[in-house]
Amino acid sequence: MGRIDLHLHSTFSDGSLSPTDVITLGHTAGLRALAVTDHDTIDGLSEALEVGARLGIEVIPGIEISARFEGREAHILGYFIDWTDATLLERLEQQRASRHHRNPLVVEKLNQLGLDLTYEEVIATAGSDSVGRPHIAQALVHKGHVRSVQEAFDRYLKDGGSAYVPRVLPDACEVIRWIREASGVPVLAHPQWVKPQHLPLATVCRSLKDAGLVGIEVFYSTHTKRQISEFLEISRTLDLLITGGSDFHGSAKPDIRIGYGRGDLKVPEKLLEPLRQAIPQTA
Ligand code: AMP
Ligand code: FE
Ligand code: FE
Ligand code: ZN
Repeated sequence: MGRIDLHLHSTFSDGSLSPTDVITLGHTAGLRALAVTDHDTIDGLSEALEVGARLGIEVIPGIEISARFEGREAHILGYFIDWTDATLLERLEQQRASRHHRNPLVVEKLNQLGLDLTYEEVIATAGSDSVGRPHIAQALVHKGHVRSVQEAFDRYLKDGGSAYVPRVLPDACEVIRWIREASGVPVLAHPQWVKPQHLPLATVCRSLKDAGLVGIEVFYSTHTKRQISEFLEISRTLDLLITGGSDFHGSAKPDIRIGYGRGDLKVPEKLLEPLRQAIPQTA
């Protein structure tokens, strides 16, 4: 059974490789299907699909939309989305605007901490419209303020870090609806992120399923065996589809390899067909 990778980032958000290079790398690694899922943007999809068609590997149009659920950040993946849908594009534009609203406030906090950095330098580092904390981290590395992206997160940018600024984010149920309205299949990314202390993950997933969630990302680069069994059990109990991906970001996350994660990731090809069958039928 072949393997696939349904969670990939390109230079159109915070990945370090172009869509062409991501798809080519996945093809060379022997993967059978790939989904490009940039944060809050579809701008890399036309290039990715074109390259996929040329190389003869299936590329699924995807997205990863930032949201909030019960006070925690939740990322919702959308597969097979209609990326020409005008309403979706408008909503994504708003999402990126909320990034441009938050990011200068982060830079301001960094400046107050005595670090020299401008938002223009961050934007230049990003080279795309979906500007995120990883770009701020990279800019801090370039300026010599920290040695690595991880150090930038640990010292300043992580939730609770000294330069952390929360983003205004839509509710996860709302984002699930956005994806369905664009004929996409909504899936909860890296479910351990949303595990609020006061609610079991199964309860969270049940609420999200009531809102239209179709699957959860059971296989993920950093999931332990124990987490995988917990998430498999939730998917069985709630009748949610199982998906998986590496969350490959190129050199922005140097320990994650496309299709293989940290070495023991395996997303079987057979997970793809049920996902395709779940595409919402809109009138
Ligand atoms: P943003 O969407 O701009 O708030 O940035 C979120 C992204 O930053 C996530 O998708 C991760 O790739 C990365 N990230 C978030 N928290 C951490 C952390 N503690 N360490 C490293 N990377 C992180
Ligand atoms: Fe990312
Ligand atoms: Fe994510
Ligand atoms: Zn991701």
